Amino acid sequence: MEEKIKKLEKTSSAKNGKNGKRAPRKPRKSVPQTEARPAKAPKTPKTPKAQTARKAQRPAKAAKRPAARGETQKTPKKTIRNSSASPVRRGRGQALGKLRVIPLGGIDEIGKNMTVLEYGNDIIVIDCGLAFPDDDMPGIDLVIPDTQYLQKNRDKIRGIFITHGHEDHIGALPYVLKEINVPVYGTRLTLGLIRRKLSEHRLEKQCALIEMQYGDIVNKGVFSVEFIKVNHSIADACAFAVRTPLGTIIHTGDFKIDTTPIRGKMIDLARFGELGKEGVLLLMSDSTNAENPGFAMSEKAVGKSFENIFNNAGGKRIIVATFSSNIHRVQQIITAAVRHGRKVALSGRSMENVLQVAVELGHMNIPDGTVLTLGEISRYPDEKIVIITTGSQGEPMSALYRMAFSDHRSVEITHNDLIVISARPIPGNERMVSNVVNELQKLGAEVVQDRSVHVSGHACQEELKIMLSLIRPLYFMPVHGEYKHRLQHAKLAEETGVDASNIFLTENGKVLEIGADGAKWAGTVPSGKIFIDGIGVGDVGNIVLRDRKHLAEDGILIIVATIDPARRAVVSGPSIMTRGFVYVKDNEALLAEAEAVAAARLNAMLTHGKSDWGTLKTQLRDELAHFISAKTKRRPMILPVLMEI
Ligand SMILES: [Zn+2]
Ligand SMILES: [Zn+2]
Repeated sequence: MEEKIKKLEKTSSAKNGKNGKRAPRKPRKSVPQTEARPAKAPKTPKTPKAQTARKAQRPAKAAKRPAARGETQKTPKKTIRNSSASPVRRGRGQALGKLRVIPLGGIDEIGKNMTVLEYGNDIIVIDCGLAFPDDDMPGIDLVIPDTQYLQKNRDKIRGIFITHGHEDHIGALPYVLKEINVPVYGTRLTLGLIRRKLSEHRLEKQCALIEMQYGDIVNKGVFSVEFIKVNHSIADACAFAVRTPLGTIIHTGDFKIDTTPIRGKMIDLARFGELGKEGVLLLMSDSTNAENPGFAMSEKAVGKSFENIFNNAGGKRIIVATFSSNIHRVQQIITAAVRHGRKVALSGRSMENVLQVAVELGHMNIPDGTVLTLGEISRYPDEKIVIITTGSQGEPMSALYRMAFSDHRSVEITHNDLIVISARPIPGNERMVSNVVNELQKLGAEVVQDRSVHVSGHACQEELKIMLSLIRPLYFMPVHGEYKHRLQHAKLAEETGVDASNIFLTENGKVLEIGADGAKWAGTVPSGKIFIDGIGVGDVGNIVLRDRKHLAEDGILIIVATIDPARRAVVSGPSIMTRGFVYVKDNEALLAEAEAVAAARLNAMLTHGKSDWGTLKTQLRDELAHFISAKTKRRPMILPVLMEI
């Protein structure tokens, strides 16, 4: 862990070979930066190289606008054709500055996504997510990105733009907004989920949440940010097209291409194509499924599987576990339930919370009288009931976990239950999921867990290539993934024609600097993990974690002695207490021997005139550690406690 963080914080030496210093293609012709050309300007004859460029949005000019809504504008329909193919913009006579792209999280991990875009005196932030702790972080509840860099530059930050409402994109907001209170921009459901989160932290009153729609553009400093519709496993997900003085950056957020989405529309591929024609400087794209060939299945396919399951359920009660945030999935389950004359009950706090937000925002279609409380289900026979529950990842204390271990207040699992786990285990959770499945089966339930009841929310290889081909970026930075995912994504980009030297495999904290003369690595800023434990933010550091791991692995041995400094003698003890080291009753001889070793050492030191506490404690600890290790090959934490009379 410690090493990991050091690695992230150390100054980069641009070691991964992608530090292309190559200058971008020279524009064939300088683009005149006319402010408002007439929309019906005579069309330049279309040559094969002709490109479309929209000049209506001049971000630098639109810096100061008053109210939140006033900052936004609809996508203009005007397009002006010219023959420039370069995505790098030219300044009007004055020298262009540098655009800095800095991921503070989301690289080499699936979690705590956060990206900083900086130009001159302006910064915008994309996403502000959390990560869940690994096994090597005992006692840690959550992990958020290190935002020192943002705190140092707080005056420059114009806003935080959120792609969608998943925890790995919004979860750090309550902690970060406490430090840096800037407006947060997002679509409806995203803000609904954020609002609920902020109110749990009693922050909803002091934070500005500004609702955006697809096609809206926000001007902030030199940046202007356009919200573009994408498909994902949560509604209201967006990509951003960020116009900067140097050109357009597209950040896809998490996306897939779903041609038959459950509600709402398909991803706005046409808009990505338009932007691609104009010329895109940099594409940052979701790498989660870059190793999976083909296309991610449509969410509708899951609906068909549910239909089959419900048809064949007979007289059984149906229990479905899924992610609470996947409201399209929950909707499909409810739709199937209604069609089969079953009532629905929700189990798990996050399931109830998310559903409430989704219903309030009009995202759900639930006929009156469909939803029961868990307390009411006993009034109906099994074949009239569907329970939708949290716990699809086997998380301890989740509702499904408690059902499996017969610890749920209102649901008792029987042989008449059909349990569908409608989610794939996130890597690392496989064991927890199979534990829960084993327990459910021991209780006699039938468990369905196959591929047909889940589809991924992230684009697979063919979809990633479609995005790359539509956008045809000059520079490409794969994000949202471990190294292997991003490396694979980089290969896909090369296949679609992106120059290998223009692909940047970044690290958290690593700065990519883009100027008129090209893109290059430009050092690092602090980045890393901040641990949340209870209400403590960042107070548990690496030393505390190291101690926790040490205690967890080998236990603790405390040795207590009372010393009379005047007589240079031990007057009581030393006596040993242990926890988590050995079973005391079976090891009395060992502990007595250890006490004798300690006593001999203490007496020897005292008679040789050593009496400062530091030396006594260190030598006592070393002596005991040596003895214990020789006898048991274990290394418990040893804590000497010396008292003076
Ligand atoms: Zn997501
Ligand atoms: Zn994500």
